[in-house]
Amino acid sequence: MEHNVGFIGLGIMGKPMSLNLIKAGKSLTVFDLNEEAVNSLVEAGAVAANSPKEVAERSDVIITMLPASKHVKEVILGENGVLEGAKEGSIIIDMSSITPDVSRELATEVMKKGIEILDAPVSGGEPKAIDGTLAIMVGGKEPVFESVKSVLYGMGKEVTLVGDNGCGVTAKLANQIIVNLNIAAMSEALVLAAKAGIDIEKMYQAIRGGLAGSAVLDAKVPMILDRNFIAGGSIAINLKDITNVMETAHEIGVPLPLSSQLLEIFHSLKVDGKINDDHGSIVRYYEKLANTEVKRG
Ligand code: NAD
Repeated sequence: MEHNVGFIGLGIMGKPMSLNLIKAGKSLTVFDLNEEAVNSLVEAGAVAANSPKEVAERSDVIITMLPASKHVKEVILGENGVLEGAKEGSIIIDMSSITPDVSRELATEVMKKGIEILDAPVSGGEPKAIDGTLAIMVGGKEPVFESVKSVLYGMGKEVTLVGDNGCGVTAKLANQIIVNLNIAAMSEALVLAAKAGIDIEKMYQAIRGGLAGSAVLDAKVPMILDRNFIAGGSIAINLKDITNVMETAHEIGVPLPLSSQLLEIFHSLKVDGKINDDHGSIVRYYEKLANTEVKRG
């Protein structure tokens, strides 16, 4: 089935994702508070709407890609929001990384009006959003998932239905623990190697084919050696995610000793003025402790 797709939230991730939907032949209506972002989508062939409500009126599939829970609640349930404009049978796909609690609350609210919803957060950052190769983890009903697969595959390569509503965002919390603790472990290793005086590039080449090799290592070591901390995934966004991780874990009785340390590292980087930098900046926390810098030999 051909869908009229609406897209709300055209930021670092949402902009390339929506451009890929246009490339995949979807007709797209877009909204963002940032006019510049909207204009660049209009130039690429999208139609601009004046509110989330108008996006919903023009679409049968409405995607949201917003920073955090409060923005998603406002855009879907708020005044001039998606719910005011959506027709019965429309499908909302929330691709933002939010808490499982809020995701389930949204599902309850929208289903009261005969509207379907999936949580479908992503992993892979800006590079995979641009390439259209994101990993997408989905929560919701199987028939609803099946009916929008062509839309999801317009943005991602691995698209997996994990379970009911809330399961996609729960998988994303688990994903964020793995990614960010990997960056922290890698940072400890790089700072040790740097202060010991070995050539970091050679060490990277020596270990990347072994068990220490990872997507994180390949994405972040070159950036760190270039001292490039321009955000794909910012400290702000990852601080939000690890805060959500700790809140969710404590609610269900799961102590997370390593993730709680990670949260303190993120708070420390925030105080240090690095909130808008890439989460590869975790290395700069360790560099400060050891009074050294990871650089090319
Ligand atoms: P971003 O801050 O770059 O973009 C968010 C966009 O939402 C902005 O353009 C902003 O203007 C818009 N927005 C905010 N409030 C709005 C409102 N009320 N109405 C309309 N538009 C509004 O964020 P991002 O990096 O694109 O991340 C989006 C989501 O994806 C987050 O939940 C994040 O955790 C998740 N995510 C990000 C990355 C990454 O590497 N950046 C990777 C995976 C997942």
